[in-house]
Amino acid sequence: MNIVSPSPLAGWGRLPISRQILLRCRDRSSPLPLPADGTLLPYGNGRSYGDVPLNDGGYSLLTRGLDRFIAFDPINGLLQAEAGVTLAEVLEIIVPRGWFLAVTPGTRFVTLGGALANDVHGKNHHVAGSFGAHVSRFELLRSDGERRLCLPHDPWFKATVGGLGLTGLITWLEIRLQPVANPWIILENKVFRNLEEYFDINRVSELGWPYTVSWIDCAARGKALGRGVYLAGRHAPVGTKSTSLGPSRLVVPFTPPFSLVNTPVLRSFNFLYYHARRPPQACSHYGPFFYPLDHVQHWNRIYGPRGFYQYQFVVAHDNAQEVVGEVLERIAVSGQGSFLAVLKTFGKLPAQGMLSFPRPGVTLALDFPNRGGATMSLFSSLDSVVRQAGGALYPAKDARMRGDDFRRAYPAWEEFQSYIDPRFSSDFWRRVTNQG
Ligand SMILES: Cc1cc2nc3c(=O)[nH]c(=O)nc-3n(C[C@H](O)[C@H](O)[C@H](O)COP(=O)(O)OP(=O)(O)OC[C@H]3O[C@@H](n4cnc5c(N)ncnc54)[C@H](O)[C@@H]3O)c2cc1C
Repeated sequence: MNIVSPSPLAGWGRLPISRQILLRCRDRSSPLPLPADGTLLPYGNGRSYGDVPLNDGGYSLLTRGLDRFIAFDPINGLLQAEAGVTLAEVLEIIVPRGWFLAVTPGTRFVTLGGALANDVHGKNHHVAGSFGAHVSRFELLRSDGERRLCLPHDPWFKATVGGLGLTGLITWLEIRLQPVANPWIILENKVFRNLEEYFDINRVSELGWPYTVSWIDCAARGKALGRGVYLAGRHAPVGTKSTSLGPSRLVVPFTPPFSLVNTPVLRSFNFLYYHARRPPQACSHYGPFFYPLDHVQHWNRIYGPRGFYQYQFVVAHDNAQEVVGEVLERIAVSGQGSFLAVLKTFGKLPAQGMLSFPRPGVTLALDFPNRGGATMSLFSSLDSVVRQAGGALYPAKDARMRGDDFRRAYPAWEEFQSYIDPRFSSDFWRRVTNQG
């Protein structure tokens, strides 16, 4: 591992920015570097939005150099790779061989280690659970030099899945894949006029489709509150031919001096998207279906130098319709909607991690340009709705949740503390547990 320099670092939302010394990991058999003072934290590919991968005043272990494939069992669909390999790199190897990730988030530019440490979820939570359910083992390197082989029933496994990088460095992992016949996805689009229609469609669609997700027009109000587009998909059977091409790659070449995302732009975009003509059924390459934003490189720059927040919560099924409705109403009134309001449900499969975010219920995720006090007061108002409903916010998307909200929604946090490596810490953890 080589010392690089003290550098500013941020997550995908480009806020907050913290300064830490960057240590590049290249060899999984090397011991952890142990500077005389200061704490360590792994940094994968920085696709968490806020401060979960940041460690201001300490050291970041950059894991992208741990990028080797170790073993592939093409009969049983088992893949072993170092923790800095990205899902994009995994897909390039496995799809031509008839395999696919069992669970994937909405971007393929995350590392295996990052996916495990946030126990990420995809569009198929109702049938597959979250990422940790498909990890068969991994190695955890602790600062005392111990290398732990963690298996699913081991408490260290449960602490590290969703453990926010605090239990040590994951050096490699083994994941179980699902078989596919080709790279194509059969999909179905349905427009819903309000939340009630969404819940009706979802109830039926989840029984027949492994992948479901919806886009919501968060600028709509009144009778149209909660209108949107429902997308369901499944891997295409053998013999499917498609003429669909993957989208061309676009780039946001620099950060504009101000956010390009303002209320009139958002209203028009949402209106046009909702009313766009789209085929009720189609066959698509897996790329645009799972990763619609990945073809616009650096799309996070459109929010300008002040960056942006994502707000993602989950609430139980019982009163989800009212809670989601109330949240959407407050956002619409504030005029601070976003392009990306994504609604989906989590099924009953229990998560593997002590601090995993997924739990049975409905989850809504939205991006907000950073408008300072106005955005903070909207978030406080949304927090009170989520709190009253007994919901949880997602650490991977967070840069500002209150410590008491975290501790209430993640009651295992105290038990978890005993698994934290004494040399590891993060901005997020210090913030939500009120430590220095
Ligand atoms: C466009 C977009 C769409 C997204 N969609 C989804 C989604 O659908 N579902 C979802 O769940 N998430 C989603 N995310 C969030 C993203 O999947 C997670 O934040 C993911 O954990 C990021 O992985 P990373 O490799 O970039 O890790 P980072 O963001 O760099 O780090 C994440 C955490 O992992 C820890 N970590 C990283 N590597 C290691 C290691 N080797 N050992 C120990 N700890 C480690 C870090 O310390 C940190 O706590 C999305 C993000 C973006 C930008």
